[in-house]
Amino acid sequence: MRGLATVVACLVLLTACQRNQEHHAELFVFGTMIEIKLWGATQEQSNRAFTELQQMFNGMHRDWHAWEPGRLTDINQAFAQGKAAEADEHIIRMIRRSQEIEQHSGGRFNPAIGRLIRLWGFHTSDYPVIGPPPTQTSIDEILMHQPSSLDIHIDGLQVRSESPYVQLDFGGIAKGYAVDLAIERLRELGITSAIVNAGGDLRAIGRHGDRPWSVAVRKPGGGIIGIVAVRDDEALFTSGNYERFRQDQMKRYPHILDPRSGWPVKDVASVTVITNEGIVADAAATALVVAGLNDWPAVAGALGLVQVLMVDESGMVYLTAEMERRMQFSGDVERVLLVVNTRH
Ligand code: ADP
Ligand code: MG
Repeated sequence: MRGLATVVACLVLLTACQRNQEHHAELFVFGTMIEIKLWGATQEQSNRAFTELQQMFNGMHRDWHAWEPGRLTDINQAFAQGKAAEADEHIIRMIRRSQEIEQHSGGRFNPAIGRLIRLWGFHTSDYPVIGPPPTQTSIDEILMHQPSSLDIHIDGLQVRSESPYVQLDFGGIAKGYAVDLAIERLRELGITSAIVNAGGDLRAIGRHGDRPWSVAVRKPGGGIIGIVAVRDDEALFTSGNYERFRQDQMKRYPHILDPRSGWPVKDVASVTVITNEGIVADAAATALVVAGLNDWPAVAGALGLVQVLMVDESGMVYLTAEMERRMQFSGDVERVLLVVNTRH
């Protein structure tokens, strides 16, 4: 009898040990490393989760790529020829959410500017891009046609564009949606505590055992501005204007474009947004980089976002009180508080 009791106790202990363990994987996709940590999952659950997520990410890379031939380039080709194309539920969802964010951001986030992004040479994985900017004439030729995601009509899984100048580039939103889908799948697999982190762009659910998940807010040019303790289910995304750019002898031209001028954004080094969905955090961070030093509080308000932090090119930090309350700054950070009034 005693023997049996000991065996039972050991089994419970083993399961407990296993369940308290952190499981960890690094998957390489979208040209970045995605780190996944699970807390309280079994070995079996983790193995299954990591394998499935790798497969999911590979599929997204194939289907959503802006220039490698695949589903999205087929759709763009159909748009250019005025034909209808077949999408899938994920591309449809990204188009719909993009349409909302394009509208609410006053066109600052606009995934239909694929032609402009290509013109600037940003359909590449090799940065920096070397050479002078495109001519104003070639920029104007695209701007004249005002490509907008709102010109895309959706009928079931069929998509069609009113304008051949609409070319989708999900570079500013895909990572956010990918992280959302990963978290959704983890939940379906019964995992309640996890973090999916693509180089500082992340979403987390649950807790790391008896403490919350702690994440770093990236600093332009390297290092961190501070640490945030994630609440039960949140996404944190930073859009940077300093890592990917074109360069000639004179200056740098960052990869985030103002869709209204066709030129790269100036003055802002990075924007960090915290909200519940990755798709919104990612697209909004891009939109707020475009909004710039003067307009970002109004645009954040129109997007219904109050947890925002912006860093300008001199390293000065501008943030909302809601964001400041979340931050544990690393060292002395010179900062200015601003108020965001949300419409929602
Ligand atoms: P990061 O590389 O820091 O994650 P973003 O999330 O802002 O940057 O995404 C930048 C990418 O988004 C660009 O490489 C391009 O593909 C696309 N893009 C650039 N400007 C815009 C814009 N105004 N609206 C939507 N997408 C954009
Ligand atoms: Mg983005």
